[in-house]
Amino acid sequence: MSRYWSDVVQQLVPYVPGEQPALAHPVKLNTNENPYPPSPCVVAAIARELGATGEALRRYPDPLARRLRETVAAHHGLTPAQVFAGNGSDEVLAHAFHALLKHDRPLRFPDITYSFYPTYARLYGVQYEAVPLADDFSIRVDDYLGDAGGVLFPNPNAPTGRALPLADVERIVAANPSSAVVIDEAYVDFGAESAIALIDRYPNLLVVHTTSKARALAGMRVGFAFGHPDLIEALDRVKDSFNSYPLDRLAQAAAQAAYEDDAYFDGMRRKVIASRERLTGALQALGFDVVPSAANFVFARHPAHDAAAIAARLKEKEIFVRHFKLPRIDQHLRITVGTDAECDTFVAALRDLLG
Ligand code: PMP
Repeated sequence: MSRYWSDVVQQLVPYVPGEQPALAHPVKLNTNENPYPPSPCVVAAIARELGATGEALRRYPDPLARRLRETVAAHHGLTPAQVFAGNGSDEVLAHAFHALLKHDRPLRFPDITYSFYPTYARLYGVQYEAVPLADDFSIRVDDYLGDAGGVLFPNPNAPTGRALPLADVERIVAANPSSAVVIDEAYVDFGAESAIALIDRYPNLLVVHTTSKARALAGMRVGFAFGHPDLIEALDRVKDSFNSYPLDRLAQAAAQAAYEDDAYFDGMRRKVIASRERLTGALQALGFDVVPSAANFVFARHPAHDAAAIAARLKEKEIFVRHFKLPRIDQHLRITVGTDAECDTFVAALRDLLG
């Protein structure tokens, strides 16, 4: 705390991302990164953009990321006017809080969800209601029908991994015609149905995607929002009042190449899904309760062992999982699906540790 800090900064409760350990070979199952490298086309596209001399870097990038947005729009059967590109989906979500979710009536999101949401709400002065999930961690659709200042949830939800069927998402979108409904689909490619299919019918629906998970580009920071052009314009107004060039040249080239190599993307997510099922079985064999996951992580608790203690003991072995010291979930661990070899190392360490 310093006397130079503004009142706003004194009140902030910043989000704390998972640890990025400075170790040569950690088994890193704590931030839901992809265990595989991005498509070779991505590496080639970055090299092409850079050229032999880096000449292109003299110039600012396209502030509108037009070629990237055209590629991604075509991929999803949308027009470029229905696509916003930002510096990671975190930035896209931040702009959505500012542009679409701040109203007199409170925003609704689940009590157990992406822990950046309350941070953004505080940053932008957005009132919100944290709506309890059911005991099995599913979203109760009836709690979101009507009269909110806005609705926001991830599908699949994080850190639970549970997915909501598209018909239920549609009921929520349809029941909130006078407010924006934002579906954060960071993990959708690992097993949920995308609400992009609803965009042409619902002008209040915004769907947020990222290249950080299923496209293995967390290090490039590229995210998107899809929705009616009026919603996209609201995000553009915030962007152009904040940072006109959120995506650098290499990020634009890399993300575009990632969307052009569908076969690679498909292979990668299939491998992750298969490893998730294998990991789930191994955890159940060790006595864990595992929430059914449609994401690239699993959320699990052991009835007889303290979650924080397990995480701490694993860390001594350079194995990193995520533990949230939060109500209702402080006995759970969120474990990112790694390669089968990483998952095997993790499971063997757990077996040792649990005795
Ligand atoms: N939404 C959810 C639910 C997430 O878990 C994450 C990853 N922490 C993000 C959004 C942000 O991802 P990124 O900024 O890397 O696109």
